[in-house]
Amino acid sequence: MAENPRAVVLLSGGLDSTTTLAIAQQQRFAVYALTFRYGQRHDAEITAARRIAERYGVRQHLIAEIDLRQFGGSALTADIAVPKGRDTDEMARGIPVTYVPARNTIFLSFALAWAEVLGADDIFLGVNALDYSGYPDCRPEYIAAYQAMANLATKAGVEGRQRLTIHTPLIAMSKAEIIRRGLDLGVDYAPTVTCYDPSPDGAPCGQCDACQLRRKGFAENGMADPATAPAMQQ
Ligand code: ZN
Repeated sequence: MAENPRAVVLLSGGLDSTTTLAIAQQQRFAVYALTFRYGQRHDAEITAARRIAERYGVRQHLIAEIDLRQFGGSALTADIAVPKGRDTDEMARGIPVTYVPARNTIFLSFALAWAEVLGADDIFLGVNALDYSGYPDCRPEYIAAYQAMANLATKAGVEGRQRLTIHTPLIAMSKAEIIRRGLDLGVDYAPTVTCYDPSPDGAPCGQCDACQLRRKGFAENGMADPATAPAMQQ
């Protein structure tokens, strides 16, 4: 029996990347999950990523250490307050301070390097252009440009052994659609961590953009968030 093709899946431990992992497995890829400890405020999402990778029985789960706190410049990697209680109009306006400079370019570069070593032609990234229209590195034109660059970048590409595709299955979905797709695939969202500013034990703040979009997404599916219900339900 031919081995399933390998894919590198970027796994943050959040709702989007977990759904993306489930989609990659449904498409019969052998999943190599890649998580970054990049200097985020807390370890909760790395713990979540570990749990999810284990649950899905991925071939390998790497946690790469890259300290983006050395640069700062983001509410996620410096002592800058995470915005709370913003309405959807405010969220849609401009690039928020939770943007981490060049994060997806850095993450994809690590994924590209690992994919070349693995002989993988496929990278999965759970970016979403609809709910986070402010992030420049979540746009389809960015992904297309990165893919074109990646195919010029590697020895395996030049030697014709690798033709890289970056899969972004969630890019045009709303949060509610992502959750519906995940539920159809049997995703358990209870262990996922989405919050930009959770407490040390991983409990979501409930008020940051990510918490609000997530809550709205579950509400539009007529359900409570399994990560917070019932104890944390407000
Ligand atoms: Zn939050």
